[in-house]
Amino acid sequence: MRPTGKTGKRHKSMRHIAIIGSGPAGYYTAEAAQKQWGEDVRVDIFDLLPVPYGLIRTGVAPDHQSIKGVSRRYESTAQLDNVRFVGNVTVGEDITIAELQGLYDAVVLATGAPNDKPAGIPGEGLENVFGSAAFVGWYNGHPQFAKLNPDLTGRTAVVIGNGNVALDVARILTKTAAEFTGSDIVAHALHALQKSHIERVVILGRRGPHQIAMTPKELGELAHLTRGCPRVDPADLPDVEEDLFLEPGQRKSVEHLRSFAAIPEEFRCDKPVEIDFDFFASPKAIVGDGRVSGIEIERTVLDENGRASGTGESYTIDCELVVTCIGYKTSPIPGVPFEENAGRFANDEGRILPGLYCVGWARRGPSGTIGTNRPDGFGVIEKIAEDIGVGSGKAGRPGFDRLAEERKLDVVTFRDWKKIEEAEEARAREGAPREKFTDVDEMIKAASKP
Ligand code: NAP
Repeated sequence: MRPTGKTGKRHKSMRHIAIIGSGPAGYYTAEAAQKQWGEDVRVDIFDLLPVPYGLIRTGVAPDHQSIKGVSRRYESTAQLDNVRFVGNVTVGEDITIAELQGLYDAVVLATGAPNDKPAGIPGEGLENVFGSAAFVGWYNGHPQFAKLNPDLTGRTAVVIGNGNVALDVARILTKTAAEFTGSDIVAHALHALQKSHIERVVILGRRGPHQIAMTPKELGELAHLTRGCPRVDPADLPDVEEDLFLEPGQRKSVEHLRSFAAIPEEFRCDKPVEIDFDFFASPKAIVGDGRVSGIEIERTVLDENGRASGTGESYTIDCELVVTCIGYKTSPIPGVPFEENAGRFANDEGRILPGLYCVGWARRGPSGTIGTNRPDGFGVIEKIAEDIGVGSGKAGRPGFDRLAEERKLDVVTFRDWKKIEEAEEARAREGAPREKFTDVDEMIKAASKP
């Protein structure tokens, strides 16, 4: 696939910016660069996949299409003359960070946090235990995880974590095929879920209802599932007066938990899948002979700092599937300072080293909503503007194109992506916006069509 033919002219006050990662943080940074310098900037957005939008495509739940709609905003940025998508290029393999720094005035790492934070307990390596990056990637058709093939023939699934990703996983495990109408869940996941035998999804929180990281809208969805019924033990809920000390969003979330606790038993029994919130429950070991058959839990109480503290009381939940939803880590890059504990690049307001920056989850860790990345993108461009002035006359995109030609890189352009998108839309099942390609070769094939 050939370069886009977008202008690459070299003049004195031109700034050349390379952004690594085409998710929300990458596109908001490109938008900010365009707003900062207008015609006097050229932005190349690199992605290792031939398709753009990162987490919007492979992280946001397939039944949350309204959230995925934000990609239309990124598309208008992508179609600006001075912003270019450079897909199917793996930084670190096809081109190094140092080479990019030689070509561009600023290199911005917008690589997100694609790796699961380990729970650090025995048994994590057993069969049918997955991190959420892998499990979410499976139902969202990420090429790296499309072949995960989780076994859903057991009766109980345990989801570890009390954040929105845990809610996504619990909801997806529970929905009927009809409830996926209008979603872009990939066919392999839809078929597997239709055949699922799961009757109980336990959501484990090591702390209590007041400490959840779940937002009200997402929590409220559990009340409207066809097959799933949320269950909260009233004894886990603090006195209702204590809710007054919560900030309003958190209070709303807790109100949902209170309403789940109030669902009468007869109604609960109407629905075949129980979504059971198990609070004050810290996982200690995942057990099984090769494959998971249970999870050992220790009861906790909150200490004076609000942290979970073990009580010594333990129990086991028999289960055949475990998904850890406990946060993510950025992929380190050799030579780039990294904060191991926080799982992100070491940076000062986005600055890592001269000419090297980070933004989004790669900068601040996996927190916030998609919109949080917008001020992040604008913030890092402010720093870059202070640092690079009028630009230093680097080769920029024509320099990269020469190198890509020499190395015979099969660069996928935004126009190529639009062909992939068209092909995905053409093969969508009825009512679905698209049927994603889950294999890079299939994507390249669709992109190469005349
Ligand atoms: P999160 O919001 O940080 O939640 C992580 C959860 O895992 C917390 O409840 C945490 O408990 C728990 N945890 C961490 N380490 C643990 C351990 N070793 N053992 C047991 N529990 C552990 O992370 P997330 O759910 O992955 O979400 C990431 C970000 O994406 C968040 O900002 C989230 O809001 C966002 N997101 C948004 C949506 C949406 O808006 N629809 C959907 C998905 C994700 P403690 O609090 O005790 O540490």
